[in-house]
Amino acid sequence: MELLNIKNLDISRKKVFIRCDFNVPMDEFANISDDRRIRSAISTINYCLDQNCAVILASHLGRPKGEVNEKYSLIPVARRIQHLLKREVIMAADVVGEDAMSKVKALKTCEVLLLENLRFEPGETENDKVLSEKLASMADFYINDAFGVSHRAHASVEGITHYFDDNHKAAGFLLQKEIQFFGKLIQEPVRPFAAIVGGSKVSGKLEALINLLPRVDKVLIGGGMAFTFLKQMGYDVGNSLVEDDLLQDAQHVMDEAKKLGVKFYLPVDVVAAEKFSEDSVSKVTSAQEIPNGWMGLDIGPATVRLYREVLADVQTVLWNGPMGVYEMDKFSRGSNKIAHFVADSYATTVVGGGDTADLVQRIGVDDEISFISTGGGASLELLEGKVLPGVAPLIIQEG
Ligand code: AMP
Repeated sequence: MELLNIKNLDISRKKVFIRCDFNVPMDEFANISDDRRIRSAISTINYCLDQNCAVILASHLGRPKGEVNEKYSLIPVARRIQHLLKREVIMAADVVGEDAMSKVKALKTCEVLLLENLRFEPGETENDKVLSEKLASMADFYINDAFGVSHRAHASVEGITHYFDDNHKAAGFLLQKEIQFFGKLIQEPVRPFAAIVGGSKVSGKLEALINLLPRVDKVLIGGGMAFTFLKQMGYDVGNSLVEDDLLQDAQHVMDEAKKLGVKFYLPVDVVAAEKFSEDSVSKVTSAQEIPNGWMGLDIGPATVRLYREVLADVQTVLWNGPMGVYEMDKFSRGSNKIAHFVADSYATTVVGGGDTADLVQRIGVDDEISFISTGGGASLELLEGKVLPGVAPLIIQEG
């Protein structure tokens, strides 16, 4: 799959609209706590500036649900871009309102304008035509560099593409990189290939799991999703997170793995607690004997040892989803130990998913990971074999 390339567009001195993904985490003081997504967009922005373009940047932040909410303003993002680009970033007070439109009109070559949070407009998530058209009217060219949101058919991601022909739209460098990387990972991984899949629920990752099975050699399950499998195996899982309506699906995944000769690993022990809380009493129990009323909130030490053993010979590791409730120190050890092991490995290591990226960054091993994807949901959908709605209009049609 080849995407329309920004380098083939004649953008010199033109107005370019770049859909970015600046949906960055903020701490309680509204400081950006991880600016990876902003830094990842800089090459495309700089490329356009080097071509003397007038650059219009657009992104969403959080879920303001179609209403203006200061908490989700992109002003802190504008400051960070300004710092990274070392040049002024003009901030629009709205998305397609009077202020944005007049600033777009006045924008000169080599200037950068950032629109306010796209999701202040209800039409953004509804893929509204009027909004798409207004956004499209701002520029001569459209660039999608927002991998993290390309699995959403939103106005600035999908709708807008209909207003540009193939000579006036393309994928930015980040989007190209992510799509190429996952394409290679799916089609020709260096084996053995292991997928570590964790996080809260089976439901969010079921399709991805099914789709991964024919491609990987081993699957290692952790996090809350493990308990649906463990329950289906007849284990006592106490009050652990279980999706009862997915027990049969869990069985199907295990049957498929067996049929395909994929080694399927589940935790053999867990850190169990009486309450979902940092100050709860906790203890290590075997995965078969979680006491009544207790819930498994992390993988236990025997599982960590087992998983290290299992990962020792692999050449490619894909990791999506933490092994436990890593946000609470007490239940973060399993994830931390696996993160250190993955980071130290000589294999190609790929981390996808906001939580897992956050995790490796928190413990400072992010530089040791071969590839950290900026998109959790988007990378999962790619692994499910889907063509993302924001990417489809940018695929070069053969023949
Ligand atoms: P996801 O968004 O599905 O990748 O899930 C990430 C979330 O799963 C994190 O916020 C974790 O706290 C949570 N999580 C991981 N393990 C467990 C568990 N054993 N029980 C409940 N939640 C968990």
